[in-house]
Amino acid sequence: MVPERGSNLRRTDAALSNQVPEDLAVCEYCRRPLPGKKSTGRPRKFCSDSHRQRAYEARRRAAGLGLGDGTVVVREEVLRDLHDRLYVLEAALEDVCQDTASARTAGDYRAALAHLMEAATGLAGLVVEPATG
Ligand SMILES: [Zn+2]
Repeated sequence: MVPERGSNLRRTDAALSNQVPEDLAVCEYCRRPLPGKKSTGRPRKFCSDSHRQRAYEARRRAAGLGLGDGTVVVREEVLRDLHDRLYVLEAALEDVCQDTASARTAGDYRAALAHLMEAATGLAGLVVEPATG
C-alpha cells in the first residue's frame, strides 16, 4: 500500500510501504520523521545534532576509503543482525499467509496476527548505523 501524496500519513502507513513518501520530511541519518519544523532558517535535515554529526562522520569515513557518494560502511555484525531479523519476519509472513488461507475463526486470525507481531517486534526501533571508525 502506497499512500497518496498529501494524505494524512500515519506512522504505520510509512512503515508498511516500501519507501518513505517523498513529502514526508525524514532525518537523513536515521530516516525517522523529523520533529516539528523550525520557524526560521534552513529546513532541517537531521532529527538531532547527534545525527548530523554521525552523518558527517559516515560521509568522511566513506570518502576516506575512496567510496562514492551515497555509500556507507556498515559493520558486518550489524548487517547480519538485520538480515536475521528480516528472515524471521519473512518466515512469519509466510506462516501467516498459509495460516490465514485456512483460518476459520477470529481466534485463528488473532493467533496469526500475534505470530506476525512477535516477529515484527524484532525490527521495531532498529536503526542500522554506519560504522565511523
Ligand atoms: Zn535521526
